[in-house]
This record gives sequence, structure tokens and C-alpha cells, in this order.
Amino acid sequence: CGIVAYIGHREACPIIIKGLHRLEYRGYDSAGVALLTDELTVYKKKGKVSELEGFIAAKDTKANIGMGHTRWATHGEPNDENAHPHFSTSERIAIIHNGIIENYAALKTHLQQQGHVFHSDTDTEVFVNLIEEIKKQNDCSLEEAVRLALHEVVGAYAIVVLSQDAPNQLIAARKGSPMVIGIGEGEFFIASDATPIIEYTNEVVYVNDYEIVVIRDGQLNIRSREDVNQTPYIQKLEMEL
Ligand code: GLU
Repeated sequence: CGIVAYIGHREACPIIIKGLHRLEYRGYDSAGVALLTDELTVYKKKGKVSELEGFIAAKDTKANIGMGHTRWATHGEPNDENAHPHFSTSERIAIIHNGIIENYAALKTHLQQQGHVFHSDTDTEVFVNLIEEIKKQNDCSLEEAVRLALHEVVGAYAIVVLSQDAPNQLIAARKGSPMVIGIGEGEFFIASDATPIIEYTNEVVYVNDYEIVVIRDGQLNIRSREDVNQTPYIQKLEMEL
């Protein structure tokens, strides 16, 4: 299971697919990508990253922002519908997630009562609908909604969130699942470990538990779940390619 995300001046999709290949060693049953232009597009499939590549080969994958995921199913069988990314009910927010949300069943019941519709059996789809509901109820930014959602979920996660209403921004957070950010020249990478990043940059920041990462306008900002600004600790990796 792995995550890869990109925001910058290059085409995101090839970087993401290559990154997912580098994370294959972690094991997985399905793979998918979300690409953000004026619209948010999701392509996902049960099976190997190479099958996803075949599936998207004839599609329009031009975008400078995107995220990709390899899933190791914990909630719901491996199939196309349960593969990530997952949309919120409005289809304006998408999420990728590694980990387990332990209290997803109670959250799901509550969200269904509020009108949210679910297409998968995953805990992850609950997370993205929770973010959407919090955003609606508080009339707040996506970043604030993600931060507030982290107070509601119990479990382990590394997530990346994209929204059609925030077309130039990438949001990520983690607790208990690994996440590293690569800092390039006007571009940023997010991944489960540094292997998808090292060919582009050796400057990395390891995200700590309960931190929320916002990348927007070429700037990296990290805040705590309590909304306190964190100074990113940039490390230089020395790794052989
Ligand atoms: N719990 C999520 C699912 O079953 C994420 C699994 C993973 O870490 O890949 O879809």
C-alpha cells in the first residue's frame, strides 16, 4: 500500500505512475489516480499498476496536480469500486488513504442520515464524506475541514486530499502511517517513502503524526491538528539512485 502525489510544473500522471511502481514492493491489490485540472478526474482498477497504466493510456491525463494510490484492502474486498481514490458525495473532493479508520461504521451511519451516499465498502470513503460534511456545516476552507476531521477519526492514516474548489492546492495529513514530502524547484512530491522522490530531489521533510500539510502557490505549510504552525525540518537525503 502506498501513496504518491505531485504538484508543480510537470505533468503529474507519469510521475505518479512511476512512483506507484516504486512502491509496489509494499504489496497491494488495486491502484488508482486522481488528476486535478478544472475538473477532478479519477481512474482506478483492481490489479497491478501496469493494468492501470493500460487503462489510462487512451485517456486524457494532462494535469500538473495529482495523486495515486496502491491499495491493500482492509475494509471491503479488492475490486474497482473499493479502489482509491474515493470521491465525496458531491464528487468535488477526492481522497487517497493508507491505514484504517476504526470508528468508520458509526461515522458512516451518521453521514448517511445527513444524506451522504456511499459507493464502496471502505472506511476511506467515510473519511472524505466526513471532510465534506464538516466543510459544509462550518462553511470553512478545505484545510480547516481536514483539520477538524482529524479530531473525529480514530485509527491510522496517511491521506492526500484534492478538491475541485481548491484547484491549486494539495492537502495531506498523517497519523501512524508514513509520509514524506519532497521539495523541488517550484514543485512538491508526497509519498509513503522516499523511493518515488529521490530521482527528483534530495530535500525531504518527514511529516509527523497529527500534522496537516498544505501545498499552495509554491509554498509548503505544516500545521498541527491544534492549528499551530510547524516549522518544516528539511533533511538532505543521500541515496544512490
Ligand atoms: N482501509 C483502506 C481500504 O481498505 C486503505 C487500505 C490501505 O492502506 O491501502 O481501502
